[in-house]
Amino acid sequence: MLARGSELLDLSLLRGFRYACRPDCGLCCYAEPRVEPEEERRLTRLVPDATLRHRGRDAFLASRPDGGACSLLASHRCRAHDARPHPCREFPLTVHVGRRLQATVVLSCPGVELGPLAAGGAGEGAPAPVGFEAELSALGERLGPAVDRRAALAARRGRKVEARLREEGRWEDDAFVRTELGHVLPLPGPADFPVEDPPERGDGLERLPLYFDHRPGPVAIARAFGGWELLELAPAGGGQTLGLAVPPDRPPGVAPEGRRLLEGYLRYALARDSFLASVQLEMLERAEGTVREWVGEALRALGAQLLSRAAVRAKLDRGEAELLSERDVAKGIRAVDQDWLDRRTWGDRL
Ligand code: SF4
Ligand code: SF4
Repeated sequence: MLARGSELLDLSLLRGFRYACRPDCGLCCYAEPRVEPEEERRLTRLVPDATLRHRGRDAFLASRPDGGACSLLASHRCRAHDARPHPCREFPLTVHVGRRLQATVVLSCPGVELGPLAAGGAGEGAPAPVGFEAELSALGERLGPAVDRRAALAARRGRKVEARLREEGRWEDDAFVRTELGHVLPLPGPADFPVEDPPERGDGLERLPLYFDHRPGPVAIARAFGGWELLELAPAGGGQTLGLAVPPDRPPGVAPEGRRLLEGYLRYALARDSFLASVQLEMLERAEGTVREWVGEALRALGAQLLSRAAVRAKLDRGEAELLSERDVAKGIRAVDQDWLDRRTWGDRL
């Protein structure tokens, strides 16, 4: 737990992970980070031409159009490193504000080792995390009364969702859901394929899922030509096609080590409050089914999306892949995790 003022930050999901930023990557700069008012003042003093976009009361650093990087990225370096806003200082950590403040690791970041997931050594009870000191210190600086207010608002929204689902006889507590699904983990099956994923290129390059692939720009996945297209994005915007592949229409074969990693990842997702809170929010639009049933569905959908993206990456890397290896599954995790963390929840993001 990290504490300051009245707020406590739950850090148990960081346990077991090791992290070191890869200087050749830049994946997290293909984004529009949120900027707090005091950060805006510091930023514009250092970089007077910084372009901000305002949505409602929130300000964001503008990215370049057509899937380009943040406007402050120049030659793979941040022009505002000493005044970069909090999402950049805290990445690859992110905090869900719900019934508690729960920090989690963004596993799309290639600087984070995924080994603990397969070994059952991630989360509660695992060794202390390594390499996140600066990110934790940046998080600690933001705890205080303003966060208290946001947490109180989020908790109120959560109580409303719970009350509505209770009225309909569909509510089950998070702890119960986690224990039940943890006993027999729902894994993707034939009914989960082919997955409806990803958006079309024409929907906007900025909406496409991204991952780092040792190239100067991140790789985006788009739906196109009856299959999926992989595109290398450029910092200035636009994408160059790397290849096309048809995603699997049934569960691909997975080697035992790959399956262990897949299960470790799904358990990690189940432990995230944001995962449950996004499912509970979606349930308001559905007429039936309990929380446990819907969370089980969501885990299968996440697993299917992960395996589909892993299979497409494997096909493009080495032609037809018979069995997905642990390495392939790890690439699938990198390619899905940020998207699932970006889903709407009844909570908030710190
Ligand atoms: S995604 Fe991770 S490894 Fe890549 S630049 Fe960002 S923090 Fe570093
Ligand atoms: S402010 Fe700097 S670190 Fe943050 S996204 Fe922009 S270029 Fe990257």
